[in-house]
Amino acid sequence: MSIAENLKRIWAELPEGVKLVAVSKFHPNEAIEEAYNAGQRIFGENKVQEMTAKYESLPKDIEWHFIGHLQTNKIKYIVPYVSLIHGIDSYRLLAEVNKYAAKVDRKIKCLLQIHIAQEETKFGFSYDECQEMLKAGEWKNLQNIEICGLMGMGSNTDDENLIKKEFSEIHNFFLKTKKDFFADADSFKELSIGMSDDFEIAVAEGSTLVRIGSMIFGHRNYN
Ligand SMILES: *Cc1c(COP(=O)(O)O)cnc(C)c1O
Repeated sequence: MSIAENLKRIWAELPEGVKLVAVSKFHPNEAIEEAYNAGQRIFGENKVQEMTAKYESLPKDIEWHFIGHLQTNKIKYIVPYVSLIHGIDSYRLLAEVNKYAAKVDRKIKCLLQIHIAQEETKFGFSYDECQEMLKAGEWKNLQNIEICGLMGMGSNTDDENLIKKEFSEIHNFFLKTKKDFFADADSFKELSIGMSDDFEIAVAEGSTLVRIGSMIFGHRNYN
C-alpha cells in the first residue's frame, strides 16, 4: 500500500474532530511530500535537528508538532515555527519554552505529558505531579505559552484491556483538569493519545489527536 492509500484508510476511520498527526521521524522528505500531496498537513517529529531541517526544506503550510522529549538547550531552534509541543513534562520546561517564545514574540501551544504507561522509561508527569503544578498556579503568569491539553503514551503491550484502562484514566483526568483549571479556556481541548497499534482504542476513549507513524510510512529502523 502507498502512503496516500494508508492515509486515506486512516482518515476514513477517524471521527469528526479527531486530527491525525503523521509521525514522520526517520523518514525522508520524499515520504513527507507524498503524504503532503495526498492532503496531510500535520506532521510529528521527535528530534529537534531533524524537524528543523525538514521545516526548512518543505512547504510552509505544514504544521509541525514536536512529540519527543524536548531538551531545554534546543528549545530556541523550534520556537520560531513549531505549532504544538506535545511533551511538556515539567514546570521548568514550560517556563523555558515561554522564555524563548517571548523572544520571538509567539504564543506557543503546549500539551502536558502524563506518564500513563507501566514502563519506567517513558517521560511525563504523574497525575499528582500534574495536579500540583497546575494548583501552584505559576503557569498562569506565562504569557507566551498556551496549555491546550494533555498527551500520553499507552503501555507497549498486547493487553488491550490495560491500554483501554490507561486511556480511559487519562481521559477522566483530562475532563477533571478542564473543569478545575481551564473551565473558561476554550483552548484547553486536546487529548493526544493513540499510535499505530492502539489508535482505535484511543479514539473510543476520547482522543482528539492521534500520532501515527508506521501505519502510514512503514517500519522505521529506529524509535
Ligand atoms: C514514534 C512515535 C509515535 C508513532 O508511533 P507508531 O507506532 O509508528 O505509530 C507516536 N508518538 C510518539 C511520542 C512517538 O515517539
